[in-house]
Amino acid sequence: MAETTKIKKLSMYDTVMKQFNKTADLIDLNPNIKKILGITNNEIIVHFPVKMDDGKVEVFTGYRVQHNNALGPYKGGLRYHPTIDVEDAKALAMWMTWKTSLAGLPYGGAKGGIKIDPRKYSDAELERITRRLTYALGENIGPEHDIPAPDVNTNAQTMAWIADTYMSTKATSERSQNQHVVTGKPVGTGGLEGRDRATGFGVYFSIKQLVESRDESLKDKTFIVQGFGNVGYWASKFLVEDGAKLLSVQDAHATLFNKDGISVENLYKHSSPRKGSIKGFDGAEEMDPEDFFGLECDIVIPAALGNQITANNAFKIKASIVAEGANGPTDDDGEKILLENGITIIPDILCNSGGVIGSYFEWLQNRNGELWDLDEVMEKLEKKLLKVFKNVQGEVDKSKTDWRTAAYKIAISRIETAYIQRGIFP
Ligand code: GLU
Repeated sequence: MAETTKIKKLSMYDTVMKQFNKTADLIDLNPNIKKILGITNNEIIVHFPVKMDDGKVEVFTGYRVQHNNALGPYKGGLRYHPTIDVEDAKALAMWMTWKTSLAGLPYGGAKGGIKIDPRKYSDAELERITRRLTYALGENIGPEHDIPAPDVNTNAQTMAWIADTYMSTKATSERSQNQHVVTGKPVGTGGLEGRDRATGFGVYFSIKQLVESRDESLKDKTFIVQGFGNVGYWASKFLVEDGAKLLSVQDAHATLFNKDGISVENLYKHSSPRKGSIKGFDGAEEMDPEDFFGLECDIVIPAALGNQITANNAFKIKASIVAEGANGPTDDDGEKILLENGITIIPDILCNSGGVIGSYFEWLQNRNGELWDLDEVMEKLEKKLLKVFKNVQGEVDKSKTDWRTAAYKIAISRIETAYIQRGIFP
């Protein structure tokens, strides 16, 4: 991604705390509950050795931060990225708590990962690293306690390794009751049909709802996407199917542009999901990464890492919608500029919630010993997404506020209610 150092970026943790404190003041959040939600419950750091293909041993650092479980078991992804640390995991775990609450799911929030660049390791090494992480986390994860899922640079295969390792540590008679320790597994091993596209579908669906509520359609709308992983790919695919045009895609290695539209399928074929990049794709021109956010278009979809839209570039954005496929892509300073310029931000906790909603379906499917087909999943997903979207839209209209504030108000109020009803132990 384009790195600019002109103005100091806020950390993701600064951003989520600013968002939380702002909402807490707005809804006059009970001060005791504000104390509880303003801190993460558990921060687990594990260091574990793994034998590499060449016989040498490397020691890795893994994280799992559990923010809050007032509404149910901790839930959230695991990312493999050189930048992940406790502070980032804390912010990402908090976002998960708000996301699951907003979606009305019986979950809390967590996030974690390993500080590595997975591109530097073979598949066999990644398998051993993942299995050792699972073993090191031990009972800190569990199907009714804390349920990881895919996130940046992890996928269904990663989840299959975790499930298998976790289940293997259980007594034979209990193994099959534990496969919902993770969601986002391959369809052949307890995974949900459609979980792969659930996040991208949610991004597309929320954009479509917003556009249609303005009596417009997606046909001929232009959009740009930062990040062409699972979220960027599926969101683009659904948008293009509805007649929108993909003008530009940016990843860590290149920024591509084609005024006639970039072929989603051809670009996907070019950039193999794990090791590849969009660089070198012959269906578009390469352009200066600094000019990406300033491109003339209707919709900007940040679908990569956090803190991408900041005071350094927010003023360049000409689109009328920023749809947050990533978690925390807009920092507080960037957000102020976007809002001043009349741009609608569909906040991450709403925009990308299709993923965790899909995870919830998978978890239910495993727990109940059911197998749902794709049509059934997509119908349920759409129904749930529509409900969450309308809830937030209702709050936007009622309080004449921005979409993030509206979403936060709903999410935090729901957790406050749970605490008030239940009280604080002892
Ligand atoms: N990593 C995804 C997210 O940030 C999915 C989490 C999940 O399904 O638990 O929402």
